[in-house]
Amino acid sequence: MLPYTTLDEAEAALGRNLTVAETLWFNYSAKKSDYHLYCHNILILFLIFSVVPLPLVFTSLWRSGGFDKYKIQPKVKLSPSETFKCYKDVMFMFFFVVGPLQLVSYPSVKMIGIRTNLPLPSGWEVFLQLLVYFMVEDFTNYWIHRFLHGKWGYEKIHKVHHEYTAPIGFAAPYAHWAEVLILGIPSFLGPAMVPGHMITFWLWIALRQIEAIETHSGLSCKIVGDFKFSSGLPFLDVGINMHNSRARTLVLLFISWIYDFPWTPTKYIPFYGGADYHDYHHYVGGQSQSNFASVFTYCDFIYGTDKGYRFQKKLLWKLKKGVENGVDQNGGSYYVPTQDLKSD
Ligand SMILES: [Zn+2]
Ligand SMILES: [Zn+2]
Repeated sequence: MLPYTTLDEAEAALGRNLTVAETLWFNYSAKKSDYHLYCHNILILFLIFSVVPLPLVFTSLWRSGGFDKYKIQPKVKLSPSETFKCYKDVMFMFFFVVGPLQLVSYPSVKMIGIRTNLPLPSGWEVFLQLLVYFMVEDFTNYWIHRFLHGKWGYEKIHKVHHEYTAPIGFAAPYAHWAEVLILGIPSFLGPAMVPGHMITFWLWIALRQIEAIETHSGLSCKIVGDFKFSSGLPFLDVGINMHNSRARTLVLLFISWIYDFPWTPTKYIPFYGGADYHDYHHYVGGQSQSNFASVFTYCDFIYGTDKGYRFQKKLLWKLKKGVENGVDQNGGSYYVPTQDLKSD
């Protein structure tokens, strides 16, 4: 709750006029308790998880739409009931694990000093804090994930997340309840180290969730080889071929806005992993010693745990260049089905 009852009081305390964003924040939050504002996280998580993967679901279910070529593992197809079961299982986890965790974790948020008052942080402050949160999350998640691929961790906990060898957006948070709790630590560590405003915290929760959905989307244009159509805009040409109808192209453009297509904004983030990168980890499954990082690629590069992935990509590239026959074991994105190179 803000310590001012009117806009005039807030402006007097700040010694200047409020910006538009600050006025909006005042009007929205002035009479709400900090606990109430913190609990918005539950709503943000629920909305993003329910809405963002929907285009992917429609794409996967629209078999005649010609989108299979954009799937990393097109031969793996989930039925509508299987897709809904994934959503239902995750919602169950939200209601019985994530929600209660959010409700009781408020004292720790107060303790680390996440603030709700004015002034609002600058754009740069928000950007730099989010960058720190992503870096801290990525590094910590890397080591926890790598530990979960040990015999005990995998059999007892992480195996559940790997039930989807060809992930879909809804499967991003699909995991054992213990994993959901454990992986809450990397998400919380960044804000604990560099506490910011509640709005930054909401943004962090939202972006992290969207990023996880994208990396589990199972869609990529990297495997498409039919680049005959020219839109006049070079960045749109990749992935649109001359056989696409106008409707199909529009749907493709909409989906590409969200998922791992060549012109998504995430493509311009240095060392960003994306769907293709994490899909390989799911494809190999429990034996995987590659691609442990959740967001970026540099941890796997530094610690040598991207060898299997690199090997597969190089092999597939050579095969595509030379021998076309025999590549299509699981739709063309991977060649060796279950083996992975060890990190050493
Ligand atoms: Zn894993
Ligand atoms: Zn995953």
